[in-house]
Amino acid sequence: MTRAKVFKLLIAVQIIVAIMLNTIPIELTFYMNPFYIVGMALGCFLMLKAIVYACPHCGKHQIMLGFFNYRLPTDNCYTCCKKID
Ligand SMILES: [Zn+2]
Repeated sequence: MTRAKVFKLLIAVQIIVAIMLNTIPIELTFYMNPFYIVGMALGCFLMLKAIVYACPHCGKHQIMLGFFNYRLPTDNCYTCCKKID
């Protein structure tokens, strides 16, 4: 598994958790809901990962290109096309 694949998988998990949180009612306090806790933790983790995710060869960021400009990471750098990992 490359970093890009792991990242995309985590995004998929995050989306599933978000859907579950909105559709499945759990008889617990909202903040004690496991989907809420997992969703928040994973959300923070993905944010940090997106910020530090850069090409080791040219140092270009792979996910955050700008404040409103994001892209999904690929196995190769989008600027120098070298393999990441
Ligand atoms: Zn690069």
